[in-house]
Amino acid sequence: MSTTLSGNAPGRITVDLDAISANVRALKSMAGSAQVMAVVKGDAYGHGLIPSAQAAVRGGATWLGVAQLDEAIQLRAAGVEVPVLTWLHAPGLDFIPAVEQGIDIGVPAIWELEAVVAAARATGRTARVQLKVDTGLARNGAFGADWTALVEAARPYVAEGAIAVTGVFTHFAYADSPAHPTVRLQQEKFADAVRDCERAGFDLEVRHMSNSAATLTQPEAAWDMVRPGLAVYGLSPVPDLGSPADYGLRPAMTVSANVTVAKRIPAGQGVSYGQTYIAPDETTVVDVPMGYVDGVPRSASSKGPVQIGGQRYTVSGRVCMDQFVVDVGDASVQAGDEVILFGDGSADGPTAQDWAEAAGTISYEIVARMSSRLPRIYVGGDA
Ligand SMILES: *Cc1c(COP(=O)(O)O)cnc(C)c1O
Repeated sequence: MSTTLSGNAPGRITVDLDAISANVRALKSMAGSAQVMAVVKGDAYGHGLIPSAQAAVRGGATWLGVAQLDEAIQLRAAGVEVPVLTWLHAPGLDFIPAVEQGIDIGVPAIWELEAVVAAARATGRTARVQLKVDTGLARNGAFGADWTALVEAARPYVAEGAIAVTGVFTHFAYADSPAHPTVRLQQEKFADAVRDCERAGFDLEVRHMSNSAATLTQPEAAWDMVRPGLAVYGLSPVPDLGSPADYGLRPAMTVSANVTVAKRIPAGQGVSYGQTYIAPDETTVVDVPMGYVDGVPRSASSKGPVQIGGQRYTVSGRVCMDQFVVDVGDASVQAGDEVILFGDGSADGPTAQDWAEAAGTISYEIVARMSSRLPRIYVGGDA
Protein backbone atom coordinates (compact mmCIF):
# COMPACT_ATOMS: atom_id res chain seq x y z
CA MET A 1 0.00 0.00 0.00
CA SER A 2 1.18 3.51 -0.69
CA THR A 3 2.86 5.30 2.16
CA THR A 4 4.59 8.62 2.46
CA LEU A 5 6.86 7.27 5.15
CA SER A 6 9.76 9.51 5.85
CA GLY A 7 12.12 7.57 8.04
CA ASN A 8 13.65 10.82 9.26
CA ALA A 9 10.49 12.31 10.75
CA PRO A 10 10.36 12.03 14.55
CA GLY A 11 6.56 11.91 14.59
CA ARG A 12 3.93 10.35 12.39
CA ILE A 13 0.27 9.79 11.66
CA THR A 14 -1.00 6.26 11.20
CA VAL A 15 -4.31 5.96 9.36
CA ASP A 16 -6.32 2.75 9.61
CA LEU A 17 -8.05 2.45 6.24
CA ASP A 18 -10.13 -0.51 7.40
CA ALA A 19 -11.59 1.73 10.11
CA ILE A 20 -12.65 4.25 7.44
CA SER A 21 -14.30 1.51 5.36
CA ALA A 22 -16.05 0.06 8.43
CA ASN A 23 -17.24 3.50 9.53
CA VAL A 24 -18.81 4.11 6.13
CA ARG A 25 -20.51 0.71 6.33
CA ALA A 26 -21.91 1.67 9.76
CA LEU A 27 -23.15 5.03 8.40
CA LYS A 28 -24.70 3.30 5.42
CA SER A 29 -26.66 1.00 7.72
CA MET A 30 -27.97 4.06 9.62
CA ALA A 31 -28.97 5.81 6.41
CA GLY A 32 -31.53 3.21 5.36
CA SER A 33 -32.07 3.34 1.63
CA ALA A 34 -30.12 6.61 1.24
CA GLN A 35 -26.71 6.69 -0.42
CA VAL A 36 -23.60 7.81 1.45
CA MET A 37 -21.49 10.70 0.19
CA ALA A 38 -18.24 10.56 2.18
CA VAL A 39 -16.94 14.09 2.70
CA VAL A 40 -13.19 14.11 2.09
CA LYS A 41 -12.56 17.86 2.07
CA GLY A 42 -9.54 19.26 3.88
CA ASP A 43 -7.29 16.38 2.82
CA ALA A 44 -9.90 13.99 4.23
CA TYR A 45 -9.93 15.83 7.55
CA GLY A 46 -6.15 15.42 7.69
CA HIS A 47 -6.19 11.67 6.97
CA GLY A 48 -4.94 11.96 3.38
CA LEU A 49 -7.29 12.55 0.47
CA ILE A 50 -6.74 9.68 -1.93
CA PRO A 51 -6.26 6.65 0.36
CA SER A 52 -9.11 7.82 2.57
CA ALA A 53 -11.44 8.36 -0.39
CA GLN A 54 -10.62 4.92 -1.77
CA ALA A 55 -11.24 3.35 1.65
CA ALA A 56 -14.59 5.16 1.88
CA VAL A 57 -15.59 3.83 -1.53
CA ARG A 58 -14.61 0.30 -0.47
CA GLY A 59 -16.91 0.78 2.53
CA GLY A 60 -19.85 1.61 0.30
CA ALA A 61 -19.69 5.36 -0.31
CA THR A 62 -21.23 5.95 -3.74
CA TRP A 63 -20.43 9.68 -3.78
CA LEU A 64 -17.54 11.81 -2.51
CA GLY A 65 -17.80 15.43 -1.41
CA VAL A 66 -15.11 18.12 -1.26
CA ALA A 67 -15.14 21.86 -0.71
CA GLN A 68 -12.55 22.84 -3.31
CA LEU A 69 -12.51 21.89 -6.97
CA ASP A 70 -8.78 21.08 -6.85
CA GLU A 71 -9.53 18.23 -4.46
CA ALA A 72 -12.15 16.84 -6.87
CA ILE A 73 -9.62 17.01 -9.71
CA GLN A 74 -7.06 15.17 -7.57
CA LEU A 75 -9.59 12.41 -6.98
CA ARG A 76 -10.23 12.04 -10.70
CA ALA A 77 -6.47 12.09 -11.42
CA ALA A 78 -6.07 9.21 -8.97
CA GLY A 79 -8.65 7.21 -10.89
CA VAL A 80 -11.56 7.66 -8.50
CA GLU A 81 -14.64 7.32 -10.70
CA VAL A 82 -17.60 7.68 -8.31
CA PRO A 83 -19.60 10.91 -8.58
CA VAL A 84 -17.90 13.83 -6.82
CA LEU A 85 -19.51 17.06 -5.63
CA THR A 86 -17.48 20.26 -4.99
CA TRP A 87 -19.20 23.19 -3.26
CA LEU A 88 -16.93 26.12 -2.49
CA HIS A 89 -15.74 28.37 -5.27
CA ALA A 90 -14.73 32.01 -5.66
CA PRO A 91 -15.18 34.22 -8.72
CA GLY A 92 -12.48 33.69 -11.35
CA LEU A 93 -12.33 29.91 -10.91
CA ASP A 94 -11.99 27.95 -14.16
CA PHE A 95 -14.90 25.48 -14.23
CA ILE A 96 -13.85 23.83 -17.52
CA PRO A 97 -11.99 20.94 -15.82
CA ALA A 98 -15.04 20.29 -13.64
CA VAL A 99 -17.33 20.14 -16.66
CA GLU A 100 -14.91 17.99 -18.68
CA GLN A 101 -14.43 15.53 -15.82
CA GLY A 102 -18.11 15.22 -14.97
CA ILE A 103 -17.67 16.70 -11.49
CA ASP A 104 -20.89 17.94 -9.89
CA ILE A 105 -20.66 21.63 -9.04
CA GLY A 106 -22.53 22.98 -6.01
CA VAL A 107 -23.89 26.35 -7.03
CA PRO A 108 -25.12 28.91 -4.45
CA ALA A 109 -25.30 32.08 -6.56
CA ILE A 110 -26.12 33.41 -10.01
CA TRP A 111 -22.55 34.61 -10.69
CA GLU A 112 -21.42 31.02 -10.31
CA LEU A 113 -24.26 29.59 -12.37
CA GLU A 114 -23.23 31.90 -15.22
CA ALA A 115 -19.56 30.93 -14.90
CA VAL A 116 -20.50 27.23 -15.05
CA VAL A 117 -22.71 27.86 -18.10
CA ALA A 118 -19.83 29.66 -19.84
CA ALA A 119 -17.59 26.64 -19.16
CA ALA A 120 -20.27 24.27 -20.46
CA ARG A 121 -20.69 26.26 -23.69
CA ALA A 122 -16.90 26.37 -24.14
CA THR A 123 -16.65 22.59 -23.88
CA GLY A 124 -19.89 21.71 -25.64
CA ARG A 125 -20.85 19.49 -22.72
CA THR A 126 -23.65 19.61 -20.18
CA ALA A 127 -22.41 20.72 -16.77
CA ARG A 128 -23.72 18.86 -13.73
CA VAL A 129 -25.03 21.41 -11.21
CA GLN A 130 -26.43 20.94 -7.71
CA LEU A 131 -28.20 23.99 -6.35
CA LYS A 132 -27.32 24.92 -2.78
CA VAL A 133 -30.11 26.47 -0.74
CA ASP A 134 -29.52 28.31 2.52
CA THR A 135 -32.20 27.09 4.94
CA GLY A 136 -30.82 28.85 7.99
CA LEU A 137 -27.05 28.49 8.28
CA ALA A 138 -26.54 31.86 6.58
CA ARG A 139 -23.27 30.67 5.08
CA ASN A 140 -22.67 29.43 1.52
CA GLY A 141 -26.06 28.95 -0.11
CA ALA A 142 -28.84 30.96 -1.77
CA PHE A 143 -31.17 32.55 0.79
CA GLY A 144 -34.76 33.74 0.44
CA ALA A 145 -35.41 35.71 -2.73
CA ASP A 146 -31.93 34.86 -4.02
CA TRP A 147 -32.93 31.19 -3.95
CA THR A 148 -36.07 31.83 -6.00
CA ALA A 149 -34.01 33.87 -8.47
CA LEU A 150 -31.37 31.12 -8.71
CA VAL A 151 -33.98 28.48 -9.57
CA GLU A 152 -35.52 30.79 -12.19
CA ALA A 153 -32.10 31.60 -13.65
CA ALA A 154 -31.25 27.92 -14.03
CA ARG A 155 -34.35 27.00 -16.04
CA PRO A 156 -33.35 28.39 -19.46
CA TYR A 157 -29.85 26.91 -19.11
CA VAL A 158 -31.38 23.49 -18.44
CA ALA A 159 -33.63 23.92 -21.49
CA GLU A 160 -30.56 24.86 -23.57
CA GLY A 161 -28.69 21.76 -22.38
CA ALA A 162 -25.84 23.81 -20.91
CA ILE A 163 -26.54 22.41 -17.45
CA ALA A 164 -28.44 19.60 -15.79
CA VAL A 165 -29.62 20.26 -12.24
CA THR A 166 -28.67 16.90 -10.76
CA GLY A 167 -29.31 17.76 -7.14
CA VAL A 168 -30.37 20.18 -4.45
CA PHE A 169 -28.77 20.42 -1.03
CA THR A 170 -28.47 22.42 2.16
CA HIS A 171 -26.47 22.30 5.38
CA PHE A 172 -27.59 22.25 9.04
CA ALA A 173 -26.59 24.93 11.54
CA TYR A 174 -27.35 22.95 14.68
CA ALA A 175 -27.48 19.25 13.87
CA ASP A 176 -25.21 18.55 16.85
CA SER A 177 -28.07 19.73 19.08
CA PRO A 178 -30.93 17.56 17.76
CA ALA A 179 -33.67 19.21 19.85
CA HIS A 180 -32.81 22.72 18.65
CA PRO A 181 -35.82 24.23 16.80
CA THR A 182 -33.71 25.11 13.74
CA VAL A 183 -33.22 21.38 13.04
CA ARG A 184 -36.95 20.94 12.28
CA LEU A 185 -37.29 24.36 10.62
CA GLN A 186 -34.42 23.72 8.21
CA GLN A 187 -35.98 20.41 7.17
CA GLU A 188 -39.24 22.21 6.37
CA LYS A 189 -37.47 24.90 4.38
CA PHE A 190 -35.50 22.26 2.52
CA ALA A 191 -38.71 20.42 1.58
CA ASP A 192 -39.96 23.73 0.12
CA ALA A 193 -36.75 24.15 -1.87
CA VAL A 194 -37.05 20.60 -3.22
CA ARG A 195 -40.60 21.43 -4.36
CA ASP A 196 -39.28 24.59 -6.07
CA CYS A 197 -36.83 22.45 -8.06
CA GLU A 198 -39.49 19.88 -8.95
CA ARG A 199 -41.88 22.63 -10.10
CA ALA A 200 -39.10 24.01 -12.28
CA GLY A 201 -38.93 20.59 -13.91
CA PHE A 202 -35.40 19.69 -12.81
CA ASP A 203 -34.65 15.99 -13.02
CA LEU A 204 -33.02 15.64 -9.59
CA GLU A 205 -30.85 12.61 -8.85
CA VAL A 206 -30.08 13.48 -5.23
CA ARG A 207 -31.62 15.64 -2.50
CA HIS A 208 -29.46 15.85 0.59
CA MET A 209 -28.88 17.73 3.82
CA SER A 210 -27.44 15.45 6.52
CA ASN A 211 -23.94 15.94 7.89
CA SER A 212 -22.51 13.43 10.39
CA ALA A 213 -24.56 14.68 13.33
CA ALA A 214 -27.81 14.51 11.37
CA THR A 215 -26.91 11.08 9.98
CA LEU A 216 -26.52 9.82 13.55
CA THR A 217 -29.50 11.62 15.11
CA GLN A 218 -32.04 12.59 12.38
CA PRO A 219 -32.69 9.54 10.18
CA GLU A 220 -35.81 11.22 8.77
CA ALA A 221 -33.58 13.90 7.20
CA ALA A 222 -31.66 11.43 5.03
CA TRP A 223 -33.61 12.05 1.79
CA ASP A 224 -31.65 10.34 -1.05
CA MET A 225 -28.21 10.70 0.43
CA VAL A 226 -26.38 11.53 3.65
CA ARG A 227 -23.21 13.59 3.62
CA PRO A 228 -21.07 12.69 6.65
CA GLY A 229 -17.51 13.86 7.12
CA LEU A 230 -16.26 13.56 10.70
CA ALA A 231 -18.01 10.25 11.38
CA VAL A 232 -16.28 8.68 8.36
CA TYR A 233 -13.05 9.10 10.29
CA GLY A 234 -14.57 7.51 13.39
CA LEU A 235 -15.07 10.60 15.54
CA SER A 236 -18.30 11.66 17.22
CA PRO A 237 -19.82 14.98 16.10
CA VAL A 238 -22.01 14.86 19.21
CA PRO A 239 -19.60 13.95 22.03
CA ASP A 240 -22.13 14.99 24.68
CA LEU A 241 -24.64 12.49 23.26
CA GLY A 242 -22.40 9.57 22.40
CA SER A 243 -18.85 8.33 21.91
CA PRO A 244 -17.68 6.89 18.59
CA ALA A 245 -18.19 3.37 19.99
CA ASP A 246 -21.78 4.24 20.93
CA TYR A 247 -22.42 4.81 17.20
CA GLY A 248 -20.39 1.83 16.00
CA LEU A 249 -17.51 4.04 14.81
CA ARG A 250 -13.76 3.65 15.32
CA PRO A 251 -11.25 6.54 15.11
CA ALA A 252 -8.95 6.02 12.12
CA MET A 253 -6.10 8.37 13.04
CA THR A 254 -3.29 7.68 15.51
CA VAL A 255 -0.67 10.35 16.15
CA SER A 256 2.59 9.23 17.73
CA ALA A 257 6.21 10.28 18.19
CA ASN A 258 9.35 9.03 19.88
CA VAL A 259 10.97 10.50 22.98
CA THR A 260 14.15 12.41 22.09
CA VAL A 261 15.57 12.95 25.59
CA ALA A 262 14.66 11.72 29.07
CA LYS A 263 16.26 13.37 32.09
CA ARG A 264 16.01 13.78 35.85
CA ILE A 265 15.30 17.27 37.15
CA PRO A 266 15.14 18.46 40.77
CA ALA A 267 12.04 19.58 42.68
CA GLY A 268 11.24 23.21 41.89
CA GLN A 269 12.66 23.14 38.37
CA GLY A 270 10.46 25.06 35.87
CA VAL A 271 9.73 23.36 32.54
CA SER A 272 9.46 24.72 28.98
CA TYR A 273 8.95 28.36 27.91
CA GLY A 274 7.76 30.61 30.72
CA GLN A 275 8.33 27.73 33.17
CA THR A 276 4.57 27.48 33.70
CA TYR A 277 5.04 23.94 35.02
CA ILE A 278 7.22 23.48 38.12
CA ALA A 279 8.32 19.96 39.04
CA PRO A 280 6.81 19.32 42.50
CA ASP A 281 9.41 16.66 43.30
CA GLU A 282 12.57 15.30 41.75
CA THR A 283 11.25 13.67 38.60
CA THR A 284 11.90 12.46 35.06
CA VAL A 285 10.82 14.66 32.18
CA VAL A 286 10.82 13.55 28.55
CA ASP A 287 10.93 15.66 25.40
CA VAL A 288 8.41 14.80 22.66
CA PRO A 289 9.38 16.06 19.18
CA MET A 290 6.01 17.37 18.04
CA GLY A 291 4.64 20.87 18.47
CA TYR A 292 2.24 23.44 17.15
CA VAL A 293 3.80 23.45 13.70
CA ASP A 294 2.73 19.81 13.53
CA GLY A 295 -0.78 20.68 14.66
CA VAL A 296 -0.41 20.04 18.40
CA PRO A 297 -2.45 22.94 19.79
CA ARG A 298 -0.52 25.36 22.00
CA SER A 299 -3.79 25.94 23.82
CA ALA A 300 -3.44 22.38 25.16
CA SER A 301 -0.32 23.41 27.11
CA SER A 302 -0.32 21.67 30.52
CA LYS A 303 -3.57 19.92 29.52
CA GLY A 304 -3.07 17.62 26.51
CA PRO A 305 -3.00 13.90 27.34
CA VAL A 306 -0.41 11.40 26.11
CA GLN A 307 0.24 7.72 26.65
CA ILE A 308 3.72 6.27 27.14
CA GLY A 309 4.30 2.62 27.97
CA GLY A 310 0.58 2.16 28.56
CA GLN A 311 0.42 4.99 31.14
CA ARG A 312 -1.45 8.27 30.77
CA TYR A 313 0.40 11.54 31.37
CA THR A 314 -0.27 15.21 30.70
CA VAL A 315 1.78 17.76 28.77
CA SER A 316 3.92 19.67 31.28
CA GLY A 317 4.10 23.39 30.51
CA ARG A 318 3.92 25.07 27.13
CA VAL A 319 3.65 23.31 23.79
CA CYS A 320 6.50 24.76 21.66
CA MET A 321 6.81 24.92 17.87
CA ASP A 322 8.43 21.50 17.40
CA GLN A 323 8.27 19.86 20.82
CA PHE A 324 6.73 19.61 24.25
CA VAL A 325 7.75 18.10 27.59
CA VAL A 326 6.02 15.50 29.77
CA ASP A 327 6.70 14.80 33.46
CA VAL A 328 6.61 11.01 33.80
CA GLY A 329 7.50 10.88 37.51
CA ASP A 330 9.72 7.91 38.29
CA ALA A 331 8.66 5.81 35.30
CA SER A 332 11.58 4.36 33.37
CA VAL A 333 10.90 6.10 30.09
CA GLN A 334 13.85 6.37 27.72
CA ALA A 335 14.86 8.09 24.51
CA GLY A 336 13.16 6.30 21.62
CA ASP A 337 10.08 5.20 23.57
CA GLU A 338 6.82 5.70 21.72
CA VAL A 339 4.49 8.48 22.80
CA ILE A 340 0.87 8.25 21.65
CA LEU A 341 -0.87 11.63 21.50
CA PHE A 342 -4.15 10.15 20.43
CA GLY A 343 -5.58 7.12 18.67
CA ASP A 344 -8.65 4.92 18.71
CA GLY A 345 -9.02 5.15 22.48
CA SER A 346 -8.41 1.45 23.12
CA ALA A 347 -6.32 0.40 26.13
CA ASP A 348 -7.15 3.68 27.90
CA GLY A 349 -5.34 5.63 25.17
CA PRO A 350 -6.14 9.32 24.67
CA THR A 351 -8.41 10.38 21.79
CA ALA A 352 -8.76 13.36 19.47
CA GLN A 353 -11.84 14.24 21.54
CA ASP A 354 -9.64 14.39 24.68
CA TRP A 355 -7.31 16.79 22.88
CA ALA A 356 -10.25 18.86 21.70
CA GLU A 357 -11.44 19.24 25.27
CA ALA A 358 -7.90 20.07 26.45
CA ALA A 359 -7.57 22.73 23.75
CA GLY A 360 -11.09 24.16 23.98
CA THR A 361 -12.04 23.13 20.44
CA ILE A 362 -13.73 20.30 18.53
CA SER A 363 -12.20 17.04 17.34
CA TYR A 364 -12.64 18.21 13.72
CA GLU A 365 -9.98 20.85 14.27
CA ILE A 366 -7.59 18.48 16.05
CA VAL A 367 -7.40 15.97 13.17
CA ALA A 368 -7.83 18.40 10.26
CA ARG A 369 -4.99 20.66 11.43
CA MET A 370 -2.43 17.90 11.82
CA SER A 371 0.37 19.15 9.60
CA SER A 372 1.03 17.77 6.15
CA ARG A 373 4.72 17.65 7.16
CA LEU A 374 3.94 14.63 9.32
CA PRO A 375 4.23 11.44 7.28
CA ARG A 376 0.98 9.50 6.89
CA ILE A 377 1.41 5.75 7.24
CA TYR A 378 -1.50 3.70 5.96
CA VAL A 379 -2.49 0.38 7.47
CA GLY A 380 -5.36 -1.88 6.48
CA GLY A 381 -7.06 -1.62 3.12
CA ASP A 382 -4.91 -3.39 0.58
CA ALA A 383 -1.75 -2.46 2.53
C1 LIG B 1 -18.08 19.67 5.97
C2 LIG B 1 -19.38 19.47 5.36
C3 LIG B 1 -20.08 18.27 5.55
C4 LIG B 1 -19.64 17.20 6.52
O1 LIG B 1 -19.82 17.69 7.84
P1 LIG B 1 -19.52 16.76 9.11
O2 LIG B 1 -20.03 17.55 10.25
O3 LIG B 1 -18.04 16.59 9.16
O4 LIG B 1 -20.22 15.51 8.90
C5 LIG B 1 -21.25 18.08 4.83
N1 LIG B 1 -21.70 19.02 3.99
C6 LIG B 1 -21.07 20.20 3.81
C7 LIG B 1 -21.64 21.19 2.87
C8 LIG B 1 -19.90 20.47 4.50
O5 LIG B 1 -19.28 21.64 4.33
